[in-house]
Amino acid sequence: MNCSAQQITLRRLDKAFSAFFRRVRAGQTPGFPRFKSLTRMPGFGYKKHGDGWRFTPGANWRHGTLRLQGVGLIKARGEARQGGTIKSCELQHSHGDWRLSLTIECAPVRVGGPAAVAADWGTEHLLTIVDGHCGTETVVNPRWWQQRKATEVALAQAVAAKRRGSRRWRKAAARLAAHRGQSGRKRLDHHHQLAARIASEVAVFATEALDIKTLTASAAGTMEAPGVDVRRQRNLNREMLDTAPALLMQLITYKVQETGGWFLTAPTKRLKPSQTCPACGAQRKKQLSERTHTCPCGCVLPRDVASAQVVLDWALREIAGKSHAQNFGREPTAAASPLRNRLQA
Ligand SMILES: [Zn+2]
Repeated sequence: MNCSAQQITLRRLDKAFSAFFRRVRAGQTPGFPRFKSLTRMPGFGYKKHGDGWRFTPGANWRHGTLRLQGVGLIKARGEARQGGTIKSCELQHSHGDWRLSLTIECAPVRVGGPAAVAADWGTEHLLTIVDGHCGTETVVNPRWWQQRKATEVALAQAVAAKRRGSRRWRKAAARLAAHRGQSGRKRLDHHHQLAARIASEVAVFATEALDIKTLTASAAGTMEAPGVDVRRQRNLNREMLDTAPALLMQLITYKVQETGGWFLTAPTKRLKPSQTCPACGAQRKKQLSERTHTCPCGCVLPRDVASAQVVLDWALREIAGKSHAQNFGREPTAAASPLRNRLQA
C-alpha cells in the first residue's frame, strides 16, 4: 500500500482514540479501541483517484474494473444509480467478502410524488403510513430473525463445538459469517427499495423521533434488583432491532430530501402520538397491549393508524406555519416552493 492509503488507516485509528477520549471526558464508559487482527480487519481506503488505484466503470456505470497498485486488475460487479466524478474508494472486508465502496461526486436526481404522509413504526407492522385522505398502508414486517434464526443458531453451535483456531473451526466460522452477511444485505436491500418507493410517492414524510436506546434497553437489571420478564423483553428488543428502524429512517430521510421533499420528525414527548386522539385531541395513556384506539368522542382506529394520524396533523400544521411565514416576506427556503407546488398539484 502506498503512503496516502496508510494515512487513511492512521486517520481511522486517530478517530477511534478521539472518540474514546471524548466519551471518557463525557463521563461515559467507552470500550478501549480494539486491536484489529487479520480476521477483524475492516479493510483500507485510498484518497485520490489515480493514487495507487484506478477504477474504470463499464457501460452506463454497470460493473467495471479496479486496478490496485501491487495487486493488478480486479473485476468489479455492481451498478451505480448515477455516474459522476470518482473521488475516493474504500475496500471493505466483512463477513469473508471484499467489497469496493466508491465515492462519486454527482448531483443526485430523484423524482418525488405529491403526497403528504406520516408513518408509525412498529414490530407488528414495520410501518403504518397514513396520507390524510383516509388512505392507510401497512408495510409487512419481514421478520428476518424469525426466518433465519434456526440456521444461524445451528451454524453458531457448529462453530462453538470446534477447537478455536483449528482448520474446521475456521471453515465453520466462515459459513456463519457468510450467513450473517447475507442477512444484513437482505435487510439493507429491502430497506433501500422500500425507502426509494416511499420517496417516489411523497412530498412530505413525517414520523415521530425514534429513541431506540430507551425502547430496547436491557431489562436484565442488577444482581440486587433483577428485572422482571427478562426473556420476553429480550425477545421483544431483538425483534425491534431486527427491523433496523434507524437504518430505515436514515434511508428515507436522504431519499426524500434528494427529491426536494421534506422529512419531518415530530417531538414525541410534547406530541404523545400514541396517547392522543386524532379526532378530538384528548390524551389518555395506553398500554402496549392495547391495539385499538377507542375514544369517548366516537373515534375508533387501529392504534398505529391513530398515532400516525396525530403525527400527520402536526406535520401539516408545521408546513402551514412555514408557508405562512413566507407570505410575510421572509425568504422562502429552496425546498419549500417546489414542494408547495407539488402539494397543491
Ligand atoms: Zn377523541
